[in-house]
Amino acid sequence: MKIALLGSTGSIGTNTLKICKQFGIEVEVLVAGNNIEFLKKQIEIFHPRIVVTANPCKIDAPVVLHGEDGILAALAMCESELVVNALVGFLGLRPTLKAIELGKRVALANKESLVVAGKFIDTSKITPIDSEHFGLWYLLQNSFKPKRLILTASGGAFRDWKIEKIASATLQDALKHPNWSMGTKITIDSATMVNKLFEVLEAYWLFGCDNIDGVIEPSSIVHGIVEFIDGSTTFHASIPDMKLPIAYALGISNQPILESVDIFKIKTAFEPIDQKRYPVWQIKERLLKRPELGVVVNAANEAAIEQFIEGQKAFGFIAEAVLRSIEKFFDTEVQSVEAIFAIDKKVRGYVQTL
Ligand code: NDP
Repeated sequence: MKIALLGSTGSIGTNTLKICKQFGIEVEVLVAGNNIEFLKKQIEIFHPRIVVTANPCKIDAPVVLHGEDGILAALAMCESELVVNALVGFLGLRPTLKAIELGKRVALANKESLVVAGKFIDTSKITPIDSEHFGLWYLLQNSFKPKRLILTASGGAFRDWKIEKIASATLQDALKHPNWSMGTKITIDSATMVNKLFEVLEAYWLFGCDNIDGVIEPSSIVHGIVEFIDGSTTFHASIPDMKLPIAYALGISNQPILESVDIFKIKTAFEPIDQKRYPVWQIKERLLKRPELGVVVNAANEAAIEQFIEGQKAFGFIAEAVLRSIEKFFDTEVQSVEAIFAIDKKVRGYVQTL
Protein backbone atom coordinates (compact mmCIF):
# COMPACT_ATOMS: atom_id res chain seq x y z
CA MET A 1 0.00 0.00 0.00
CA LYS A 2 1.11 3.58 -0.61
CA ILE A 3 -0.26 6.85 0.69
CA ALA A 4 -0.30 10.57 0.00
CA LEU A 5 0.40 12.47 3.23
CA LEU A 6 -0.72 16.11 3.44
CA GLY A 7 0.77 18.01 6.38
CA SER A 8 3.72 15.67 6.94
CA THR A 9 5.74 18.04 9.14
CA GLY A 10 2.94 18.57 11.67
CA SER A 11 1.99 16.65 14.79
CA ILE A 12 -0.35 14.19 13.01
CA GLY A 13 1.93 14.01 9.96
CA THR A 14 4.94 13.03 12.08
CA ASN A 15 2.97 10.32 13.90
CA THR A 16 1.63 9.04 10.57
CA LEU A 17 5.18 8.60 9.28
CA LYS A 18 6.08 6.65 12.44
CA ILE A 19 3.22 4.23 11.66
CA CYS A 20 4.31 4.05 7.99
CA LYS A 21 7.84 3.14 9.07
CA GLN A 22 6.66 0.56 11.62
CA PHE A 23 4.31 -1.20 9.18
CA GLY A 24 6.24 -0.75 5.91
CA ILE A 25 3.75 1.59 4.21
CA GLU A 26 5.14 3.39 1.16
CA VAL A 27 4.83 7.17 1.07
CA GLU A 28 4.26 8.43 -2.47
CA VAL A 29 3.42 12.08 -1.73
CA LEU A 30 4.61 14.44 1.01
CA VAL A 31 2.99 17.85 1.43
CA ALA A 32 4.34 20.40 3.91
CA GLY A 33 4.17 24.13 4.57
CA ASN A 34 7.29 26.02 5.55
CA ASN A 35 9.28 23.65 7.75
CA ILE A 36 11.58 22.78 4.85
CA GLU A 37 14.56 21.47 6.83
CA PHE A 38 12.33 18.92 8.59
CA LEU A 39 10.68 18.02 5.28
CA LYS A 40 14.10 17.32 3.74
CA LYS A 41 14.85 14.84 6.53
CA GLN A 42 11.54 13.08 5.83
CA ILE A 43 12.38 12.96 2.10
CA GLU A 44 15.72 11.29 2.86
CA ILE A 45 13.95 8.54 4.80
CA PHE A 46 10.78 7.98 2.74
CA HIS A 47 11.85 8.95 -0.84
CA PRO A 48 8.45 10.26 -2.00
CA ARG A 49 7.90 10.56 -5.76
CA ILE A 50 5.98 13.84 -5.37
CA VAL A 51 6.66 16.65 -2.90
CA VAL A 52 4.56 19.78 -2.42
CA THR A 53 5.52 22.83 -0.36
CA ALA A 54 3.54 25.98 0.45
CA ASN A 55 6.04 28.20 -1.39
CA PRO A 56 8.66 27.59 -4.10
CA CYS A 57 11.91 26.20 -2.68
CA LYS A 58 14.79 23.88 -3.62
CA ILE A 59 13.79 20.26 -2.99
CA ASP A 60 15.33 17.08 -4.36
CA ALA A 61 12.47 14.82 -5.54
CA PRO A 62 11.25 13.57 -8.97
CA VAL A 63 8.21 15.90 -8.94
CA VAL A 64 8.14 19.12 -6.90
CA LEU A 65 5.04 21.33 -6.78
CA HIS A 66 3.89 24.35 -4.75
CA GLY A 67 0.82 25.91 -3.23
CA GLU A 68 -2.80 24.77 -3.07
CA ASP A 69 -2.91 24.04 -6.82
CA GLY A 70 0.20 21.92 -6.32
CA ILE A 71 -1.57 19.86 -3.64
CA LEU A 72 -4.58 19.28 -5.93
CA ALA A 73 -2.31 18.38 -8.87
CA ALA A 74 -0.34 15.94 -6.69
CA LEU A 75 -3.59 14.19 -5.71
CA ALA A 76 -4.59 13.88 -9.36
CA MET A 77 -1.22 12.52 -10.48
CA CYS A 78 -0.51 10.07 -7.64
CA GLU A 79 -1.42 6.39 -7.61
CA SER A 80 -2.15 6.25 -3.87
CA GLU A 81 -5.70 5.24 -3.10
CA LEU A 82 -5.47 6.58 0.45
CA VAL A 83 -4.89 10.25 1.25
CA VAL A 84 -4.02 11.23 4.81
CA ASN A 85 -5.20 14.82 5.20
CA ALA A 86 -3.35 16.29 8.18
CA LEU A 87 -3.39 19.90 6.98
CA VAL A 88 -4.65 22.42 9.49
CA GLY A 89 -7.69 24.65 8.99
CA PHE A 90 -9.89 25.62 6.03
CA LEU A 91 -6.95 24.98 3.69
CA GLY A 92 -7.71 21.27 4.09
CA LEU A 93 -11.17 21.45 2.50
CA ARG A 94 -10.32 21.49 -1.22
CA PRO A 95 -7.89 18.55 -0.94
CA THR A 96 -10.54 16.48 0.90
CA LEU A 97 -13.13 17.24 -1.79
CA LYS A 98 -10.62 16.58 -4.57
CA ALA A 99 -9.48 13.24 -3.12
CA ILE A 100 -13.09 12.02 -2.85
CA GLU A 101 -13.86 13.27 -6.38
CA LEU A 102 -10.87 11.22 -7.59
CA GLY A 103 -12.34 8.11 -5.93
CA LYS A 104 -9.71 7.94 -3.19
CA ARG A 105 -10.30 7.21 0.50
CA VAL A 106 -9.44 9.93 2.99
CA ALA A 107 -7.94 9.34 6.43
CA LEU A 108 -9.12 12.67 7.79
CA ALA A 109 -7.34 14.49 10.59
CA ASN A 110 -8.36 17.83 9.07
CA LYS A 111 -11.63 17.98 11.02
CA GLU A 112 -12.31 21.45 9.60
CA SER A 113 -13.25 19.76 6.28
CA LEU A 114 -16.20 18.01 7.92
CA VAL A 115 -17.05 20.95 10.15
CA VAL A 116 -17.48 23.34 7.22
CA ALA A 117 -18.74 21.01 4.49
CA GLY A 118 -20.07 17.84 6.16
CA LYS A 119 -23.36 18.28 4.32
CA PHE A 120 -21.60 17.85 0.97
CA ILE A 121 -19.05 15.16 1.87
CA ASP A 122 -19.61 11.44 1.28
CA THR A 123 -18.54 10.21 4.71
CA SER A 124 -18.45 6.59 3.52
CA LYS A 125 -15.13 7.59 1.91
CA ILE A 126 -13.73 8.94 5.18
CA THR A 127 -12.02 7.42 8.19
CA PRO A 128 -11.53 10.05 10.89
CA ILE A 129 -8.19 10.50 12.63
CA ASP A 130 -9.52 11.88 15.89
CA SER A 131 -9.21 9.99 19.15
CA GLU A 132 -12.81 10.65 20.24
CA HIS A 133 -14.36 9.52 16.95
CA PHE A 134 -12.09 6.53 16.79
CA GLY A 135 -13.24 5.66 20.33
CA LEU A 136 -16.91 6.04 19.37
CA TRP A 137 -16.44 4.00 16.19
CA TYR A 138 -14.75 1.28 18.26
CA LEU A 139 -17.69 1.19 20.68
CA LEU A 140 -20.23 1.07 17.88
CA GLN A 141 -18.88 -2.17 16.35
CA ASN A 142 -21.94 -4.10 17.49
CA SER A 143 -25.62 -4.17 16.62
CA PHE A 144 -26.87 -2.51 19.81
CA LYS A 145 -28.80 0.72 19.47
CA PRO A 146 -27.01 3.84 20.72
CA LYS A 147 -28.97 6.58 22.49
CA ARG A 148 -26.33 9.24 23.12
CA LEU A 149 -22.74 9.79 22.03
CA ILE A 150 -20.43 11.54 24.50
CA LEU A 151 -17.08 13.06 23.59
CA THR A 152 -14.54 13.69 26.29
CA ALA A 153 -12.52 16.90 26.57
CA SER A 154 -9.35 17.47 28.55
CA GLY A 155 -10.42 21.04 29.31
CA GLY A 156 -7.29 22.49 27.69
CA ALA A 157 -4.82 24.94 29.14
CA PHE A 158 -7.29 26.94 31.24
CA ARG A 159 -9.36 24.27 32.93
CA ASP A 160 -7.93 25.11 36.36
CA TRP A 161 -7.53 28.88 35.87
CA LYS A 162 -9.58 31.52 37.65
CA ILE A 163 -12.36 32.27 35.14
CA GLU A 164 -11.83 36.07 35.37
CA LYS A 165 -8.21 35.69 34.20
CA ILE A 166 -8.86 33.54 31.11
CA ALA A 167 -10.02 36.29 28.72
CA SER A 168 -6.67 38.07 28.99
CA ALA A 169 -4.44 34.96 28.77
CA THR A 170 -1.47 35.06 26.39
CA LEU A 171 -0.59 32.79 23.49
CA GLN A 172 2.12 31.17 25.60
CA ASP A 173 -0.48 30.36 28.28
CA ALA A 174 -2.92 28.92 25.73
CA LEU A 175 -0.27 26.58 24.31
CA LYS A 176 0.34 24.79 27.61
CA HIS A 177 -1.90 21.79 26.97
CA PRO A 178 -2.04 19.47 29.99
CA ASN A 179 -2.13 16.09 28.16
CA TRP A 180 -1.61 16.18 24.39
CA SER A 181 1.25 17.44 22.28
CA MET A 182 -0.44 18.93 19.19
CA GLY A 183 -0.15 21.73 16.64
CA THR A 184 -0.69 25.38 17.64
CA LYS A 185 -4.20 25.81 16.27
CA ILE A 186 -5.80 22.71 17.79
CA THR A 187 -4.13 23.49 21.12
CA ILE A 188 -5.81 26.92 21.10
CA ASP A 189 -9.08 25.25 19.99
CA SER A 190 -8.81 22.97 23.03
CA ALA A 191 -8.36 25.93 25.35
CA THR A 192 -11.50 27.66 24.00
CA MET A 193 -13.47 24.37 23.66
CA VAL A 194 -14.05 25.18 19.97
CA ASN A 195 -12.31 21.86 19.32
CA LYS A 196 -15.11 20.00 21.12
CA LEU A 197 -17.77 21.96 19.20
CA PHE A 198 -16.01 20.88 16.02
CA GLU A 199 -15.96 17.29 17.21
CA VAL A 200 -19.70 17.41 17.94
CA LEU A 201 -20.26 18.41 14.31
CA GLU A 202 -17.78 15.82 13.10
CA ALA A 203 -19.69 13.14 15.06
CA TYR A 204 -23.00 14.40 13.68
CA TRP A 205 -21.85 13.91 10.07
CA LEU A 206 -19.97 10.66 10.71
CA PHE A 207 -22.49 8.81 12.84
CA GLY A 208 -25.79 10.41 11.77
CA CYS A 209 -26.77 11.10 15.38
CA ASP A 210 -27.94 14.40 16.86
CA ASN A 211 -27.86 13.42 20.52
CA ILE A 212 -24.24 14.29 21.16
CA ASP A 213 -22.64 15.75 24.26
CA GLY A 214 -19.26 16.58 25.71
CA VAL A 215 -17.80 16.14 29.20
CA ILE A 216 -14.50 17.06 30.81
CA GLU A 217 -12.29 14.07 31.53
CA PRO A 218 -9.04 15.57 32.81
CA SER A 219 -6.72 12.61 32.22
CA SER A 220 -7.55 12.10 28.49
CA ILE A 221 -7.63 8.34 29.03
CA VAL A 222 -11.31 7.90 28.17
CA HIS A 223 -11.98 9.21 24.65
CA GLY A 224 -15.54 8.27 23.81
CA ILE A 225 -18.61 7.10 25.70
CA VAL A 226 -21.74 5.52 24.22
CA GLU A 227 -25.04 5.22 26.05
CA PHE A 228 -27.26 2.53 24.57
CA ILE A 229 -31.05 2.44 24.72
CA ASP A 230 -30.97 -0.65 26.98
CA GLY A 231 -29.23 1.34 29.75
CA SER A 232 -25.71 0.07 29.08
CA THR A 233 -22.90 2.62 28.91
CA THR A 234 -19.53 1.73 27.37
CA PHE A 235 -16.25 3.64 27.48
CA HIS A 236 -13.28 3.59 25.13
CA ALA A 237 -9.98 4.10 26.93
CA SER A 238 -6.37 4.19 25.77
CA ILE A 239 -3.31 6.22 26.62
CA PRO A 240 -3.42 9.63 24.89
CA ASP A 241 -1.43 8.90 21.71
CA MET A 242 -2.68 9.56 18.18
CA LYS A 243 -0.83 6.56 16.73
CA LEU A 244 -3.82 4.32 17.54
CA PRO A 245 -6.47 6.19 15.46
CA ILE A 246 -3.85 6.83 12.77
CA ALA A 247 -2.99 3.12 12.48
CA TYR A 248 -6.65 2.16 12.08
CA ALA A 249 -7.19 4.90 9.50
CA LEU A 250 -4.28 3.37 7.55
CA GLY A 251 -6.01 -0.01 7.63
CA ILE A 252 -3.93 -1.56 10.42
CA SER A 253 -5.97 -3.33 13.09
CA ASN A 254 -5.43 -6.05 15.69
CA GLN A 255 -1.74 -5.22 15.98
CA PRO A 256 0.21 -4.02 19.02
CA ILE A 257 0.16 -0.21 18.66
CA LEU A 258 0.10 1.21 22.21
CA GLU A 259 0.74 -0.04 25.72
CA SER A 260 -2.49 -0.80 27.59
CA VAL A 261 -3.81 1.67 30.12
CA ASP A 262 -2.73 0.79 33.65
CA ILE A 263 -6.23 0.55 35.14
CA PHE A 264 -4.93 0.95 38.69
CA LYS A 265 -3.68 4.42 37.77
CA ILE A 266 -7.00 5.65 36.36
CA LYS A 267 -8.29 8.49 38.51
CA THR A 268 -10.97 9.58 36.13
CA ALA A 269 -13.71 11.95 37.20
CA PHE A 270 -16.17 13.38 34.70
CA GLU A 271 -17.31 16.98 34.93
CA PRO A 272 -19.79 19.01 32.88
CA ILE A 273 -18.42 21.63 30.50
CA ASP A 274 -18.89 25.00 32.22
CA GLN A 275 -20.27 27.64 29.85
CA LYS A 276 -18.72 30.44 31.90
CA ARG A 277 -15.25 28.98 31.47
CA TYR A 278 -15.91 27.97 27.85
CA PRO A 279 -18.46 30.49 26.44
CA VAL A 280 -18.56 28.87 22.97
CA TRP A 281 -20.14 25.74 24.48
CA GLN A 282 -23.46 27.62 24.82
CA ILE A 283 -24.09 27.29 21.05
CA LYS A 284 -23.69 23.48 20.94
CA GLU A 285 -27.42 22.67 20.78
CA ARG A 286 -28.13 25.44 18.28
CA LEU A 287 -25.36 24.10 16.07
CA LEU A 288 -26.76 20.59 16.23
CA LYS A 289 -30.03 22.03 14.88
CA ARG A 290 -28.18 23.89 12.07
CA PRO A 291 -24.98 21.84 11.64
CA GLU A 292 -24.21 23.41 8.26
CA LEU A 293 -23.30 26.58 10.20
CA GLY A 294 -19.99 24.96 11.05
CA VAL A 295 -18.59 27.11 8.24
CA VAL A 296 -19.50 30.25 10.23
CA VAL A 297 -17.93 28.99 13.46
CA ASN A 298 -14.80 27.86 11.66
CA ALA A 299 -14.27 31.10 9.73
CA ALA A 300 -14.83 33.25 12.82
CA ASN A 301 -12.54 31.04 14.86
CA GLU A 302 -9.70 31.02 12.30
CA ALA A 303 -9.92 34.78 11.74
CA ALA A 304 -9.92 35.47 15.50
CA ILE A 305 -7.05 33.05 16.17
CA GLU A 306 -4.97 34.82 13.52
CA GLN A 307 -5.48 38.11 15.35
CA PHE A 308 -4.75 36.48 18.72
CA ILE A 309 -1.51 34.92 17.45
CA GLU A 310 -0.43 38.25 15.95
CA GLY A 311 -0.99 39.87 19.35
CA GLN A 312 -3.77 42.19 18.08
CA LYS A 313 -6.48 40.67 20.25
CA ALA A 314 -6.75 38.96 23.63
CA PHE A 315 -7.69 35.30 24.10
CA GLY A 316 -11.27 36.21 25.04
CA PHE A 317 -11.79 37.69 21.58
CA ILE A 318 -11.89 34.21 20.02
CA ALA A 319 -15.08 33.21 21.83
CA GLU A 320 -16.55 36.68 21.30
CA ALA A 321 -15.94 36.48 17.53
CA VAL A 322 -17.50 33.01 17.31
CA LEU A 323 -20.60 33.96 19.32
CA ARG A 324 -21.16 37.26 17.51
CA SER A 325 -20.70 35.62 14.11
CA ILE A 326 -23.23 32.92 14.92
CA GLU A 327 -25.75 35.58 15.95
CA LYS A 328 -25.13 37.58 12.79
CA PHE A 329 -25.09 34.69 10.31
CA PHE A 330 -27.51 32.26 11.97
CA ASP A 331 -30.07 32.46 9.15
CA THR A 332 -27.48 31.89 6.43
CA GLU A 333 -28.46 29.12 4.01
CA VAL A 334 -25.63 26.87 2.84
CA GLN A 335 -26.80 25.60 -0.54
CA SER A 336 -23.60 24.41 -2.19
CA VAL A 337 -19.88 23.86 -1.82
CA GLU A 338 -19.26 27.14 -3.68
CA ALA A 339 -21.43 28.93 -1.10
CA ILE A 340 -19.13 27.65 1.64
CA PHE A 341 -16.18 29.54 0.19
CA ALA A 342 -18.27 32.71 -0.12
CA ILE A 343 -19.63 32.46 3.45
CA ASP A 344 -16.14 31.75 4.80
CA LYS A 345 -14.89 34.98 3.20
CA LYS A 346 -17.85 37.03 4.43
CA VAL A 347 -17.48 35.86 8.05
CA ARG A 348 -13.73 36.52 8.05
CA GLY A 349 -14.45 40.04 6.77
CA TYR A 350 -17.00 40.54 9.56
CA VAL A 351 -14.52 39.43 12.26
CA GLN A 352 -12.05 42.06 10.97
CA THR A 353 -14.64 44.73 11.78
CA LEU A 354 -15.09 43.65 15.42
P1 NDP B 1 0.22 21.08 12.85
O1 NDP B 1 0.12 22.56 12.92
O2 NDP B 1 1.14 20.37 13.75
O3 NDP B 1 0.54 20.62 11.35
C1 NDP B 1 -0.08 21.22 10.22
C2 NDP B 1 0.58 20.73 8.97
O4 NDP B 1 0.02 21.45 7.86
C3 NDP B 1 2.09 20.97 8.93
O5 NDP B 1 2.71 19.93 8.23
C4 NDP B 1 2.19 22.27 8.12
O6 NDP B 1 3.43 22.44 7.48
C5 NDP B 1 1.10 22.01 7.09
N1 NDP B 1 0.68 23.24 6.44
C6 NDP B 1 0.28 24.39 7.03
N2 NDP B 1 0.03 25.32 6.08
C7 NDP B 1 0.30 24.73 4.89
C8 NDP B 1 0.24 25.19 3.54
N3 NDP B 1 -0.15 26.43 3.23
N4 NDP B 1 0.55 24.32 2.56
C9 NDP B 1 0.96 23.05 2.86
N5 NDP B 1 1.05 22.57 4.12
C10 NDP B 1 0.71 23.42 5.11
O7 NDP B 1 -1.28 20.53 13.07
P2 NDP B 1 -1.75 19.15 13.71
O8 NDP B 1 -0.97 18.01 13.11
O9 NDP B 1 -1.85 19.27 15.17
O10 NDP B 1 -3.25 19.08 13.19
C11 NDP B 1 -3.57 18.81 11.82
C12 NDP B 1 -5.08 18.57 11.74
O11 NDP B 1 -5.38 17.42 12.52
C13 NDP B 1 -5.91 19.72 12.32
O12 NDP B 1 -7.08 19.85 11.58
C14 NDP B 1 -6.24 19.24 13.73
O13 NDP B 1 -7.44 19.78 14.21
C15 NDP B 1 -6.36 17.75 13.50
N6 NDP B 1 -6.12 16.91 14.67
C16 NDP B 1 -4.93 16.97 15.33
C17 NDP B 1 -4.68 16.20 16.45
C18 NDP B 1 -3.34 16.20 17.11
O14 NDP B 1 -3.14 15.40 18.05
N7 NDP B 1 -2.41 17.03 16.71
C19 NDP B 1 -5.72 15.31 17.01
C20 NDP B 1 -6.93 15.28 16.20
C21 NDP B 1 -7.11 16.05 15.09
P3 NDP B 1 4.69 23.24 8.15
O15 NDP B 1 4.72 22.86 9.59
O16 NDP B 1 5.83 22.67 7.36
O17 NDP B 1 4.47 24.69 7.92
